[in-house]
Amino acid sequence: MTEPALHAIAADHVFDGTAVRERTAVVIDGTRIARLVPTTELPGGITVRILPEGAWLAPGFIDLQVNGGGDVLFNDQPTAQGARAIAAAHRKFGTTGLLPTLITDSPEKTGLALEAVNALAGREPGILGLHLEGPYLSPEKRGVHDPRHIRRPHADDLALLTAPRHRVLLVTLAPEVVPPGFITELVAAGVRVSLGHSMASYRETMAAMAEGLVGFTHLFNAMRPLASREPGPIAAALQSPDACYGLIVDGVHVHPAMLRLALRGAGRPILVTDAMPPVGGVRASFALYGRAIEVQDGRCVTGDGTLAGTNLDMASSVRNCVHVLNVPLPDALRFASAHPAMFLGLDHMLGRLAVGYRADLVALDPKNMTVIATWVAGSGEG
Ligand SMILES: [Zn+2]
Repeated sequence: MTEPALHAIAADHVFDGTAVRERTAVVIDGTRIARLVPTTELPGGITVRILPEGAWLAPGFIDLQVNGGGDVLFNDQPTAQGARAIAAAHRKFGTTGLLPTLITDSPEKTGLALEAVNALAGREPGILGLHLEGPYLSPEKRGVHDPRHIRRPHADDLALLTAPRHRVLLVTLAPEVVPPGFITELVAAGVRVSLGHSMASYRETMAAMAEGLVGFTHLFNAMRPLASREPGPIAAALQSPDACYGLIVDGVHVHPAMLRLALRGAGRPILVTDAMPPVGGVRASFALYGRAIEVQDGRCVTGDGTLAGTNLDMASSVRNCVHVLNVPLPDALRFASAHPAMFLGLDHMLGRLAVGYRADLVALDPKNMTVIATWVAGSGEG
């Protein structure tokens, strides 16, 4: 769809990232939000898209962890084209910004992924950066990550990861396998660091947080569990107001009681999909490191039943949050937009509908959380 540079979208309920405004229009000028006005005060002569009765308009979803979509696995196609195909598949489910996620792989693949995402700077607004999940992980908590590529950092890794970039870089690592000061160096270079696939003790987690780690990748999954005398990373995360924890709300990965516990934590919950190629695709299976992964009962599993990412999309994640966890819709929407924007340091331009913010929006039917339309940098689809 091609809109005129100045256009407006009107909805019964507009969640601006903080509050819900009734019968409001978002005026878009080019790629940015020009203003929010009551629908009755829209100036004449402006093109207005009026959303169906009862629809919500909200900041577009931001997904920090996307392994694949549209039958593409980023590890197989760590290229600009692969990233674009994945973003296009997820956009149907309200995701207007994402980090293609490369799980543990060879240094060559890592280099390609970094190059691909850098090359999209200024050309593909929906691709906000890159998430490297691994390779510095605990072999004990590797999940489906390839043990042949799990390792400690090499001498030249820091230079690669801290090189100047045009996009956000998020690194998931196990703090206990990187040397002291490694996280500090990454954080000083603007890299977001998140704990994941880790057996870190509480003390090791607190030391990593003192170095600047604030993220927790799919909290609860693939990390040392909560225990009375060794609280581990989960307790460290839940007690810190600075912590940002990714939650997979697919009804499979984490028990609702654990998710409710996370929602009572002091930090910021973030909805992530950890999505695999079947999301927005047509095939119900794919290969990961040459192993067949099947979608069974909505879950992505290996032959031996190990979970291998998800078949989850962001709209379903928001819906599960509301319907299963009884989270008010505005809160679920914040977990899907404002919180990830803050974690990525992009909250000055994303995660809110406010003057000067980039026009990234999702229009939703709140009954079943189906996506009516999306806009990325002012450009609409649907
Ligand atoms: Zn993982």
